[in-house]
Amino acid sequence: MGYSIYHWIVIGLIVLVVAGPFIVRARLYTLESYRRDNPDCVKPGRVACRHCGGTSLWMKRKAFFVGTGWAHTCRTCGQELYYSG
Ligand SMILES: [Zn+2]
Repeated sequence: MGYSIYHWIVIGLIVLVVAGPFIVRARLYTLESYRRDNPDCVKPGRVACRHCGGTSLWMKRKAFFVGTGWAHTCRTCGQELYYSG
C-alpha cells in the first residue's frame, strides 16, 4: 500500500549515485594507485601531496558504503590523497 517496487528502484538509484564514487575510490585509490599516478610524490618512507608538495599527512576516519576506512589527507591543503582500509 503506497510503496510500489518503483519507490525502491528510485531509492536504490539514489544510493548508488551518492555512494558509488566513495565505493570506487575506497576500493581502487590506494597508495599503489597514488604511486602509479604520482611516482615523484612517493619515495621510500615519504609521501608528498600532489597538490601542494606537503609531506605531512594525517589519516581521517571516513565512512564508506561498504564500511569505514582511512583517508590519507594532506595537512597543508586538506586534499584527500589516497585511501586504505
Ligand atoms: Zn597538499
